[in-house]
Amino acid sequence: EVAVRAAGVWKVYGGGQTRVEALADVSADFGKGRFTAIMGPSGSGKSTLLHCLAGLDKPSDGQVFLGDVDLTKLPEKQLTHLRRDRIGFVFQAFNLVPTLTALENITLPLDLAGRKPDQDWLTTVIDTIGLTDRLSHKPAELSGGQQQRVACARALVSRPDVVFADEPTGNLDSRSSADVLAFLHRSVRDFHQTVVMVTHDPAAAAYADRVLFLADGTLESELVDPTAESVLD
Ligand code: ADP
Ligand code: ADP
Repeated sequence: EVAVRAAGVWKVYGGGQTRVEALADVSADFGKGRFTAIMGPSGSGKSTLLHCLAGLDKPSDGQVFLGDVDLTKLPEKQLTHLRRDRIGFVFQAFNLVPTLTALENITLPLDLAGRKPDQDWLTTVIDTIGLTDRLSHKPAELSGGQQQRVACARALVSRPDVVFADEPTGNLDSRSSADVLAFLHRSVRDFHQTVVMVTHDPAAAAYADRVLFLADGTLESELVDPTAESVLD
């Protein structure tokens, strides 16, 4: 079962002398319950692809399907609702709300949607990130690794169809990176979460079960870890 599909996606910036093909005919499937890493040199189109897949950016041409919904055909208002309800996003810079506690940050997507947290799920997510004694702390009182684990919990709290992570360990030391990656990995293994992560760190990509390599806006190759088994098998 495919969670997300890119079909012939192009993203072109500028025109004439300044024309840049950030993505040139990219097609890829992201299976449900799989952890995919997207790697490639700086400027190869990784962030652009992730933003197109997550409905944060519109392709110039081609389609992006979340399940059977074509995101490129959705009016902005419906796209906003779909992003809120069915997509989680983790940013390199954490993007937590500084005035809210860790717990308030985690439940923010539900509060904004006017939904009550599923207490069992919330407890599971909080136990898995291992921050039970830090929930009343503000982001500034947490280490970088702890802040990113809060951001991951926030991305998972509404049980989205897919979690996108853009260089989630880019601001972290190796120990904190390992904590965050272990959490994403567990969310795939234990909860069948679908995760798509952009990274330039091979140690981070090693947590994924598939690595896509981008070069100059096209998919260059794909590495499927033969030792990784789909959590759905
Ligand atoms: P990566 O994430 O792999 O570093 P990006 O997706 O950020 O690559 O960028 C891919 C290409 O698109 C680069 O050449 C970049 O300069 C260009 N680009 C990205 N965003 C814009 C923009 N808003 N306007 C013009 N060019 C852009
Ligand atoms: P991590 O490996 O999760 O990044 P660190 O080893 O960096 O954690 O942090 C060690 C301890 O110091 C953590 O328990 C964290 O709560 C605390 N800590 C780190 N930064 C701050 C801060 N700015 N204010 C208060 N406590 C902090």
